[in-house]
Order: sequence, then C-alpha cells, then structure tokens
Amino acid sequence: MKIHIGSLEMGEGAPVVVQSMTNTETCDIAATVAQAMRMVEAGCQMVRITVPSMKEVSALGEIKQRLRAEGIAVPLVADVHFLPQVAEACAAIVEKVRVNPGNYVDKRNFSQLDLTDVQYAESLQTMAVRARPLLEICRQHNTALRIGVNHGSLCDRIVSRYGNTPLAMAMSALEWIDICESAGFHNLVLSLKSSNVNTMAEATRMLHGMMQERGEAYPLHLGVTEAGAGDEGRMKSAVGIGALLLDSIGDTIRVSLTEPPENEVPFARLIASATGEKDRVKVALAAQTLHLCYDEPDRQKWMAVAGSFIGHAHLHHAFSDLVIENRHFSCDECKYMAELALQACRIRMTRTEIVSCPSCGRTRYDIMGTLEKVKQRFSHYPNLKIGVMGCIVNGPGEMADADFGIVGATDNKVIVYKQKEKLTPPLEVDAALDFLHQLILNNNYSKNL
Ligand code: SF4
Repeated sequence: MKIHIGSLEMGEGAPVVVQSMTNTETCDIAATVAQAMRMVEAGCQMVRITVPSMKEVSALGEIKQRLRAEGIAVPLVADVHFLPQVAEACAAIVEKVRVNPGNYVDKRNFSQLDLTDVQYAESLQTMAVRARPLLEICRQHNTALRIGVNHGSLCDRIVSRYGNTPLAMAMSALEWIDICESAGFHNLVLSLKSSNVNTMAEATRMLHGMMQERGEAYPLHLGVTEAGAGDEGRMKSAVGIGALLLDSIGDTIRVSLTEPPENEVPFARLIASATGEKDRVKVALAAQTLHLCYDEPDRQKWMAVAGSFIGHAHLHHAFSDLVIENRHFSCDECKYMAELALQACRIRMTRTEIVSCPSCGRTRYDIMGTLEKVKQRFSHYPNLKIGVMGCIVNGPGEMADADFGIVGATDNKVIVYKQKEKLTPPLEVDAALDFLHQLILNNNYSKNL
C-alpha cells in the first residue's frame, strides 16, 4: 500500500526513505531547528522530534514554521509516549505522529500477566475507544500515523497472551491495524524494534507475512533500537536493517546511534543502497563457515554492504563462523569486522554487549561521553550486557534484558540499575561507573583478554 507523508511517498515500490530524530530539548527551538537543518543537509528525508508533554506542543509548531521559512519542506514526525492528548494536538501540526502501543493508554507495569479472555477483550476495546479521537484528527489533517512497537515496552495485555516474544510484537501491531481499519483509517506505517537484531528481524518478517496473508501491506519502518555508537552500532544496524531490505522488506529506515543524529544519515543511506551491491561480493559457504571476499576501499561502505549481506545470510542459512577478506584492509581489520558481525548476529560474543539509546529531548546528562567511558572501562566481558539509557521514563523498560544499566536522571546525574531494580540514587557519572565496576567484580564476570 502506498501512503503519503507530506510530499513523500512511502511503500509499494517507492524508494526507501531515510529518517532520523533530533536529540535536543524540543523547547530549545533554535537548537532543534539548527539540528534538523544539519540532518536534512546530511540527506535526512524525514525528521522526528520528541514531544513528551503539552509544553513541547507549541514549540513543535514554532519549529515547523521556522523550518518552512528556511525552505526546509521535509515531513516532521512527533514522537509521543503515554499521553493521548499530546498525540492528538501534534496530529494537527505535523505530517506524522508516532505512538507506542505499549504505553499509549495501555501500560506495562508487570502487574497483571494472567488476563482472562473477557479482560483481554475489554482492555483492547478501551484502547480502541481511546484511539478514535487521534485517528479522526489524523484523517482531518491528512496526518500519517506510525505504530511504533518496541520489544522493551510491550504492554501487560500482549505479554499476558504471547509472552515477551517476536510474535507478541507482531500481534501488538496487528491489533492496532485492526483498530485503525475499523475506524476507516489506512494512513499507517508500522515498526517493530528491538536492540536484539534477531528479535527485530524475526518480528518484522512475521508481521510482513501476516499482512501479506491478509492482502494488505502497510509500509514498514526498520530500525535496530539502542544499537549503540561507532562501529558496533553501525554493524548492528546494517545486519538488522540491511538483511530485511535484501528481502524487499522495509520502506523507511532509521539508524539509531548514540551520536549526533546527522551522523546516522550517511550510514543509513549506505545501507539503503547496499541492495544494489550484493552481487559484487564473492561468497562461499562450506562446513558452517561463511567466506566473503570484498574489493571495497571505503570502510563505511564495506561495513554497510558486508553487514547487510551477513545479516541476510544469517536469516536464511546456518553458519557458525565467518571469514572476511578485503584487499584494501589488513587481516586484523578484516577479523575485527567479522567479530563485529558475529556479535551483532549473536552467533559469537567476543565483547560486552552495550545497548545505548540515541537520546532525545528527554536526556539530561552527557550520554555520549558516558557511553565512551563505559566502553573504555567495561568492553571486555563477553557474557555481560550493559544498558546506557537517556532517561528514566523509557530507559529501564527498553534495556530490560541488560544485566546492568546506567540511566539518566536530572542535573547531569545517572542511576545504576541491576536489570529492573534501581540500585542507587542519582549519582555523578564517575561515581556511578565505580559502583558498576564493583558490581561486575562482585558478580564474577570473566574478561576476554
Ligand atoms: S530511552 Fe533514550 S531515546 Fe528513549 S525516550 Fe529516553 S532518552 Fe529518549
């Protein structure tokens, strides 16, 4: 199905749209406009902005006006969690609104995981009734809606029936499709994101298959959430997003990095164009070893193409080892690239798995500097997973399967978590990292030296 988001066409054979999200405070209008302009200059075709409360709604209108006055016509997307009235207000202002079914009316508080059929149906009906005003406003203003399901924030109702699984993610989206269709609303995009590449790919393939069976194919937004930064974040994104694009699944993509958002765009564009490069790689698969031979001098392009291809191979063939060659790079660099890809696929873990959100207007500390410190101090534990998250509103839920987490509070302070349990009050970052170090030692995580 082809839909329109402002002047952009999406779906049904339209080119893949590259998007990203600002991480400034939305009420800092000048900073948000300046960042959006840098993103567009880097090639971003759609700009998402967080709108946590009604306070940011008027800032959103002013940001849109200033961008249009600067001649920037890209569609804007309001990112809304928790508050239906905020989504409804935004739907009259920008071209698209994103809501998360896990926290829009529904809740995730792990309080009731054994709903009866009657309770399940009532809960679904409550959500359908609460969604109606938003759908009506979207219809009046020709505003598109993204149903953005995140693995880390599935609501209790869905978890009660399907567990915390890729199927639950697909069913959560499918329920919203039904709600929208029963209200006669079809201007829809769906996304199923996870920091686990395999979960994200499996859920998205599942939803794609379900929609095909129903004879409807709404556009799909692809992304690996909390992918991290640097090479790790880029490789994870290529493995997850590129794999699906190579199967012709996906209509718009976002690479989520804990870096300035304008950095995300060039790599996203490389992944989007990787499908045209797949015939240039020499491939051999023997005795569970995938052997890939490249002749690509551009490191970023090599990473985007190799990650996409390896992710795709991982979806369709079993392999347990990987050899990469590229005559433009040293053996050590090729080995490093193979290790990154194997870790992204979770075939072999050789370093700490660090998940970190891209940050947004909710972040009140230096998450990029903190992530760098975490990487420097704690990268050598292959059995350990650490979350570095921007805010306490969504951070603890989104990093739910991490062993430990550093989560942003206010005033440049962070809180240390052990899984879902809050262990400290807000601390200075260095004190929090010392505390984390002690926790890692106490729990006997072994180092990969
Ligand atoms: S977890 Fe990160 S990206 Fe998500 S809402 Fe919080 S700060 Fe924003």
